[in-house]
Amino acid sequence: MTQAILLTRGEDKATQAAVSDIDPADLPEGDVTVAVSHSTLNYKDGLAITGSGPVVRAWPMVPGIDFAGVVEDSGHAGFKPGDAVVLNGWGLGESRWGGLAQKARVPGDWLVPLPPAFTPAQAMAIGTAGYTAALAVLELERQGLTPDKGPVLVTGANGGVGGVAIALLARRGYEVVAMTGRTGEADYLTGLGASAIMDRAEYAGPARPMAKERWAGAVDAVGSHTLANVLSQMKYFSPVAACGLAGGMDLPTSVAPFILRGVRLCGIESVYMPKPERLAAYDLLANDLDPALLASMTTEVGLAEAIPTAARLMAGQVRGRVVVDVTR
Ligand code: NAP
Repeated sequence: MTQAILLTRGEDKATQAAVSDIDPADLPEGDVTVAVSHSTLNYKDGLAITGSGPVVRAWPMVPGIDFAGVVEDSGHAGFKPGDAVVLNGWGLGESRWGGLAQKARVPGDWLVPLPPAFTPAQAMAIGTAGYTAALAVLELERQGLTPDKGPVLVTGANGGVGGVAIALLARRGYEVVAMTGRTGEADYLTGLGASAIMDRAEYAGPARPMAKERWAGAVDAVGSHTLANVLSQMKYFSPVAACGLAGGMDLPTSVAPFILRGVRLCGIESVYMPKPERLAAYDLLANDLDPALLASMTTEVGLAEAIPTAARLMAGQVRGRVVVDVTR
């Protein structure tokens, strides 16, 4: 037997989460078995564990959209026992058993070699949140963003996507403004590289179709009115990377920013991103994410503690990233 967080659902449809013994024979099909050492809590894991969003599509479910560990057994040509690997996404923790477990079995095509720059714990401190932030930065630059064009806004700044986006952008020479509901965390955010802090209340109400040009680029983890306000203040031809929905899934805007200013709204989807883009994101992280800043964003918990921590994440009480050491 091996240990995992197991999510079950009773007749009342309420999600129950508990650390449970699972039989490795019950792991899903796949050509690589991994001894997982670390996983993490992303927003999606918080939704799954607390049952506050329709993330889980099969029951019972082992949550955890990410893991890092060592290959134990492999029938895949690209991996052999002893290789250190990382997995982000691919439906783990949603439609198939995921990483908040001491063992996982997956198709080897989904694995990425652990980048030499990172330990397994650091790879999980990055997690899907950090890898998504890297995808967002790559996309903004693909759309022509350069530091001389002006300030870049990052919303949901105290979250995982936000924190890594701030650190990467600042390191690449951008002037970064951090938007947050927790302005008391200003020292933390400036420590990551933000040059100014903006209260999210400023963008909480309905957006005008267009407002004064302000941002050369933006990474948005919030959606809803926040993203609508961001769009209304983008400079001509500037890109916005839409990553998340922490404030809501709606987008109450108009076509004005797109047809009158040529604003580019770029969707970021990390789960099924092909491997070359994943490797490019990890290259960016290896080159431009200061390990000391990553440490300043990260707290570590064990498997059992991950359950109450997921509730705190959903309540907006967690700063930065949470690593889960699944061996304790
Ligand atoms: P997180 O660590 O929980 O951070 C979310 C942050 O959003 C919070 O720290 C908070 O920042 C802000 N926030 C929370 N509730 C809010 C509200 N009601 N209104 C406005 N802001 C609010 O989550 P994360 O892991 O960074 O993920 C952020 C978002 O990106 C989530 O929606 C997640 O599902 C999404 N995501 C998408 C992908 C993808 O592939 N597209 C990948 C990863 C994550 P402040 O306290 O600083 O205001």
